[in-house]
Amino acid sequence: MPTMAGRGDFDLAGLRGEFPIFAAQGPRFHYLDNAATGQICRAAAEALIDFETRARANVKRGVYRLADEATRAFEEARARIAGYIGAREAAEVVITSGTTHALNLAAHCLCARLRPGDEILLTTAEHHSNIVPWQLAGARVGATIRAIPLQTDGRLDLDRLADLLSARTRVIAATHCSNVTGAITDIGRLAEAARSVGAVLVVDGAQRAPHGPLDVQALGCDLYALSGHKLFAATGAGALWIRSDLAQELPPFLGGGEMIRRVSIESSTFAPPPHRFEAGTPPIGAALALGAAAAWLSGLDWEAIHAHEQRLLERLLAGLKAIPGVRLLGPEGTQARAPLVSFVVDGIHPHDVCQLLDTFGVCTRGGHHCAQPLHEALGVEASVRASIALYNDEADIEALLDGLEEVVRRLA
Ligand code: PMP
Repeated sequence: MPTMAGRGDFDLAGLRGEFPIFAAQGPRFHYLDNAATGQICRAAAEALIDFETRARANVKRGVYRLADEATRAFEEARARIAGYIGAREAAEVVITSGTTHALNLAAHCLCARLRPGDEILLTTAEHHSNIVPWQLAGARVGATIRAIPLQTDGRLDLDRLADLLSARTRVIAATHCSNVTGAITDIGRLAEAARSVGAVLVVDGAQRAPHGPLDVQALGCDLYALSGHKLFAATGAGALWIRSDLAQELPPFLGGGEMIRRVSIESSTFAPPPHRFEAGTPPIGAALALGAAAAWLSGLDWEAIHAHEQRLLERLLAGLKAIPGVRLLGPEGTQARAPLVSFVVDGIHPHDVCQLLDTFGVCTRGGHHCAQPLHEALGVEASVRASIALYNDEADIEALLDGLEEVVRRLA
């Protein structure tokens, strides 16, 4: 493990050494698409390979040694994820395939608490996976969707909460961090609003989770979703934290094996949480990888990592502002912001910018980033996004800025 004692002796080379991709790709590899997926850390990759090649068996059902070991490892992974997010108990963590699955589960199960005419309050900054499941749920029960708008700086206008809340608001669903602007949402304020009307608060933590351990209890939310592949683990597993008293009362999502207590041809009774929400064979190897990543990340010096990420973000913002024709979307400062930036370049389509940046070894993303309402509110169709993770370095930022200057010189 790298030594990361903070106060300037931040061992970035050691940290990068924990991510096999960098040795595999060589020096001309500047990965700035971390908001789409993070690179896998060694601990997670080893956990995945170890399970699949040495210790593979299904969980929750076998009585032989290997199956028992797999079940224990799966439950240990759940406990490690619970530790990273500050859950009171491991049983509050449901293993899902990712944030999308987690939010669909939340919307489907919370439907049971909705009546026709009830309201679901979203925000304009949501990823489609925190919009569409609520539209589907709302249509099923006849609930109405409302959304908190943006301020002119691209942050949420939480002063509008008082107008948007009503006695019919049953759910508030919001992102902890925008995947387009990086703006961090004041979850405490939403939690207070939710409490004031007896609503449930669902938080999409996909973009916040990779930037350090969490305390879901202190946040004051009721459900919290994240994706393992963005948290430096494998693709295929994520998690949904559900406050235990709420989990007890929610009905299942998918039906099938391992989520039941008793099944007859006419009807079934269900297992307690979290198993009630985990029908069928879970993504075992990916869950073990997520547990290993969570445990490894929990041991890092996040004060030093935050300072490092903020330094890179400052340089990126300053460099982008200095390139003619580049316009930043959302907040211009680094306060209450994850290290990711979206921008447009006058006269050049975001896809073209990304393709040209690739010729400089720079990986960025162009498009609407599954956030069309947010782009519409910002007055653009699409944007280029550069997103920083703990292992990025100055060379990554300079490669992006140099490449972009060249692109603008050639095309704008
Ligand atoms: N929410 C946010 C804020 C995201 O950035 C993403 C991934 N781009 C998702 C949800 C969906 O995550 P996944 O595809 O891992 O389910």
